[in-house]
Amino acid sequence: MGALDGRTAFITGGASGIGRAVVESYAAEGARVVVADRDGERARAVAERTGAAGHTAVDVSDPAAVEAVMSAAVREFGGIDVLVNAAGILTEAPLMEMDPRMWSETLAVDLTGVFLCCRYAVPQMAERGWGRVINVASQLGIKGGRSLSHYAAAKAGVIGLTKSLALEVAERGVLVNAIAPGPIDTPLVAGITPEWKAAKQAELPLGRFGRPEEVAPTAVLLASDPGGNLYVGQTLGPNSGDVMP
Ligand code: NAD
Repeated sequence: MGALDGRTAFITGGASGIGRAVVESYAAEGARVVVADRDGERARAVAERTGAAGHTAVDVSDPAAVEAVMSAAVREFGGIDVLVNAAGILTEAPLMEMDPRMWSETLAVDLTGVFLCCRYAVPQMAERGWGRVINVASQLGIKGGRSLSHYAAAKAGVIGLTKSLALEVAERGVLVNAIAPGPIDTPLVAGITPEWKAAKQAELPLGRFGRPEEVAPTAVLLASDPGGNLYVGQTLGPNSGDVMP
């Protein structure tokens, strides 16, 4: 018996990093997984390797494309039970030098992308009286980050969206939570300098970046019935450096 037997999960950013680790864990726990990513080829490769039920190329910042892939998944699998929003991009620039296009693109993918996926997946969960949404935010959305105002603002927005949507749909059986990881070793942070990485590691209780596989169990817990039932509008912070309550 897997913790997610019989559930259908739609995982954005599923082709890499944290999303890919969640795909693997969910498939191992018995879920039918749809791997969704802007990089359709890598999504297909991950789906084939993990035995996921499906894969799709989608840009989460494109409203029509998100609506279309959600509808297709609902038609094919009879519904989406679990939505994991892990697609994301990260760039760096001091605010005083930031090209407004960098700001807009980050907000479009990292915040509006989460809104759009929730917008088109949650109504059918509410209609069927059961659903789980797990949004991948970031500690930077809580603490802020130098040269990361656009990313931190988007992730703070994800936390606000999560708490607000949780209030709207909890009574209809849909629980919405966020995971706000500290630094995790993925392609997203591959470009950082060794100096920045060393300084960051020194702040962390474990003294190292986390691995995507260490984040995935939190996503399993939050999707599980009954394991995740008590979490409503919460933000859990793996490898955050904070002592969690
Ligand atoms: P990653 O780069 O390994 O994976 C991100 C995936 O998102 C990629 O496969 C990419 O193709 C996909 N993607 C990017 N833009 C997209 C779009 N417009 N539409 C669809 N897919 C798109 O990065 P990761 O570290 O695994 O990041 C996953 C999530 O975790 C992101 O939301 C990121 O902000 C968040 N996060 C990462 C860290 C970290 O230290 N790595 C820490 C906190 C939060």
